[in-house]
Amino acid sequence: MAQKNQVFDNVLDLVGNTPLIKLNTITAPFKGEFYAKVEAFNPGHSSKDRVALYIIEQAERQGILKPGDTIIETTSGNTGFSIAMVSIIKGYDCILAVSSKSSADKISMLKTMGAKVYVCPAHVRADDPRSYYEVAKRLHSEIKGSVYINQYFNQLNIDAHYNSTGPEIWEQTEGKITHLVACSGTGGTISGTARYLKEQNPNVKVIGVDAFGSVIKKYHETREFDEKEIYPYRIEGLGKNLIPTATDFDAIDTFVKVTDEESAHSARHVAKTEGLFVGYTSGAAMQAVKQLEEAGEFDENSRVVIIFPDHGSRYMSKIYSDKWMTDQGFFDSVNEVEAESIQY
Ligand code: PMP
Repeated sequence: MAQKNQVFDNVLDLVGNTPLIKLNTITAPFKGEFYAKVEAFNPGHSSKDRVALYIIEQAERQGILKPGDTIIETTSGNTGFSIAMVSIIKGYDCILAVSSKSSADKISMLKTMGAKVYVCPAHVRADDPRSYYEVAKRLHSEIKGSVYINQYFNQLNIDAHYNSTGPEIWEQTEGKITHLVACSGTGGTISGTARYLKEQNPNVKVIGVDAFGSVIKKYHETREFDEKEIYPYRIEGLGKNLIPTATDFDAIDTFVKVTDEESAHSARHVAKTEGLFVGYTSGAAMQAVKQLEEAGEFDENSRVVIIFPDHGSRYMSKIYSDKWMTDQGFFDSVNEVEAESIQY
């Protein structure tokens, strides 16, 4: 049982210290023990709470931020929500420049959390003055006392996880972890966690999860940017069409690529077997573990930690919608949809 009768000063006291939960059913046929680091237990329901809080508090420590100042970022996803939440409690203005592709639901959620949202055209080049990157940069230069989080290119993103996620996993596994499996988007989570764990034990094997359609795995192998790797895919928050400096490629041993379809089914499988309602990239991480097990990566002594980055509630109109799954061709037949529905 979680500790009882605890009272917290505000919601930010609940960031981090997420549980490590043993997977009992989905991995039962596999060799070794498997544990999920369930980041949905953060108050903003994702690992990005750690990054938002850490970067903002670093800026405060350096005297860059004072009450009433402005935090700027380009995201409609988890990072935006976390920055908005931290800004409410600490009394900052939060400006998020988002793409016009962002769903109306996401924009409403961010506005509800007090953010000022600039919706920028999706189909312009990154260096176009109307793009969300350029709008964020311009606002940062115009607004005195503003901080631009810039998560893909900010080393503090790595430090946030080096100082929290890494030590938590080391303590929770009593130093027995043998493998870390984590998605790589900005790369902050896997890089910071890996750096800490490898400092404790260089034999911990760190496996990144990448999407088909992203350049990250190929870049890790060749250190060359290969445009041919890039094509559209559906998983959000995983992989990239550029090389983020918030990824420490030397801290990662190898990458596994996963498909949209198998990752979606894996997320649904985690929900059904473990009672953990997780997001799309958690399914991607679970799918990577299945592929690694098939490749003979694990043995009886393996203690594998898998990071589940966020909560399933953000994907109701996607992987948890039978209609969406059918529209993507992820169900082979109507009967399969019905079978899935009955099992729920
Ligand atoms: N999963 C989700 C849902 C995310 O939003 C992100 C962040 N882009 C990641 C995984 C990857 O985390 P990181 O950016 O730390 O690599």
